[in-house]
Amino acid sequence: MRLSKLYMPTLREAPADAEIASHKLLLRGAFIRKSASGVYTYLPLGYKVVRKVEEITRQEMDNAGSQEILMSAIQPKEIWEQSGRWEKFGPEMFKLQDRHNRDFCLGPTAEEYFTTLIKDEVKSYKQLPLNLYQIQTKYRDEKRPRFGINRAREFTMKDGYSFDTNSKTMEESYMNMYCAYEKIFDRLRLDYKIVQGDNGAMGGSQSHEFIALSETGEGVIAYSESGKYAATTEKAEVKYVLPEKEEKLEMQEVNTPGTTTIEAVSEFLNVSKNKCLKAIDLMVEEKPVFVFIPGDRELNMAKLIGFLGVAEHSIEMMSDEEIISLGSRPGFTGPVGISEDARIIVDKNITEIDNLVVGANKEDAHIKNVNYGRDFEAEICDDLLEVQVGDIIPETGEEYKFARGIEVGNIFQLGTKYSSTIGAKYLDENGKDQLIWMGSYGVGVTRSVSAIVEQNYDEYGIIWPMTVAPYHVIVTVVNAKNEEQLALGEEIYNALQKEGIEVLLDDRKERAGVKFNDRDLIGIPLRITVGKMAMDKIVEYSTRKERVNEEVSAQDAINRAIETVKEELK
Ligand code: ATP
Ligand code: MG
Repeated sequence: MRLSKLYMPTLREAPADAEIASHKLLLRGAFIRKSASGVYTYLPLGYKVVRKVEEITRQEMDNAGSQEILMSAIQPKEIWEQSGRWEKFGPEMFKLQDRHNRDFCLGPTAEEYFTTLIKDEVKSYKQLPLNLYQIQTKYRDEKRPRFGINRAREFTMKDGYSFDTNSKTMEESYMNMYCAYEKIFDRLRLDYKIVQGDNGAMGGSQSHEFIALSETGEGVIAYSESGKYAATTEKAEVKYVLPEKEEKLEMQEVNTPGTTTIEAVSEFLNVSKNKCLKAIDLMVEEKPVFVFIPGDRELNMAKLIGFLGVAEHSIEMMSDEEIISLGSRPGFTGPVGISEDARIIVDKNITEIDNLVVGANKEDAHIKNVNYGRDFEAEICDDLLEVQVGDIIPETGEEYKFARGIEVGNIFQLGTKYSSTIGAKYLDENGKDQLIWMGSYGVGVTRSVSAIVEQNYDEYGIIWPMTVAPYHVIVTVVNAKNEEQLALGEEIYNALQKEGIEVLLDDRKERAGVKFNDRDLIGIPLRITVGKMAMDKIVEYSTRKERVNEEVSAQDAINRAIETVKEELK
């Protein structure tokens, strides 16, 4: 491709709303353009990268025995009602109606659709296992679209689904996909960790997330130095260290003016924070729920959602008016004598702590020496706590370490969750009806592009890994008005193309500085610069990453480029 013809409107400055490097650089390098909040256009260079990521994904899915299909982005409401997810996805789902007022959505994912597709045609155990996937545009009306194509409202996802006769072969299918994902993300040259995930809205048992390490990532992972354990913090288990046992004392109400926080009450009464009960006052599906955890910890919302089995969007903080109408006071909520209309849920550790300090449900008052069982009862959840620095990993006994990252892939064992609600059954060897066992597997294609940039850039621009670079080599003709330079540039360009190398020829009649800046910005891995020494067939050869120029003969430059590209694509 000749740069003089390429639609590549690079920008000197990134728009002010671009917060992270990948977002800024993809805009500046003319890879993407914003169309609306969380909705992007891919320009020629950007779309080339996306297609490379798609192609790597496709090859590894095919190699793993999965078959590509393409379903519509438009999905009927009925199948989502069958699984109960029409409500559960809630405001994140883009909904629409046709001219007959029939309801549809733009698919945020496709467990229901794939299950519906196969249910009438897969009838016998002989047709299983089956693994299907698609690479398709997905729609999610994200609460906070941000970071460009990293958290978009329209994005490309590879979603795949496995169908098996039993849990054991489902696990095998899952492991097969796990291995395919390793190959995909290795080929994308991402630095990633595989961690145990939270099953969230998908349901089912096991899940793993593939997290590209990055300080800008929205996900936090908790892992062990030894590499034996890694999970998202949503999932990571907390082994809470209980305070010393004490003799249970009599309850006593005390005046605690203005102490609406754990810090304040702990200081005022000179009681350690872990003996003060922390209250989280919530409305869940519009019904009151009081959650209590040890005062020195934070609530893990994903664990609470898992316990309640509700959708995230159905949880809100209780308003002051609601707290008062339930006979309590904001900042002084406690489990003793609270309204019977509310659900009370405690973290299990609460049942083991003696002589708690709890809110008295009155302005400026707490109750001391409150003990679970004797003074109040509640629904008990095994673990509602967020992991924190200093916590020990139950499985390995090591201290948790933490890192941030971008979730680029996610795999789930679904079990029979969707087959049972949608009615996907097969006949086994004995002619008996059985439910199909499923797994689902997602790769964030466009999000991976932004993750790759987050891991590969410098002060000058993007540094694409060879496997996904829009072009392998850029040949820069320093002065395109000079015939000798242009001719040598063309010669190198043609020679490389003949070898199947993807080449850009910068034949623009621009100042050299502009060309050098653009090529640093768009991050083509190898570069050959044709300048003043063109008459002697001498050029400069360099790599984008190192940016060190070496004078070599044109033929050497060609040979080295071919060799390097072939080596790095292996
Ligand atoms: P997140 O926790 O980041 O919202 P998710 O758990 O909702 O992700 P999945 O439902 O597992 O995501 O979707 C599969 C993959 O699709 C994710 O691993 C991610 O790479 C990608 N993805 C999800 N949401 C978005 C989005 N809004 N923009 C771009 N890619 C996305
Ligand atoms: Mg999401």
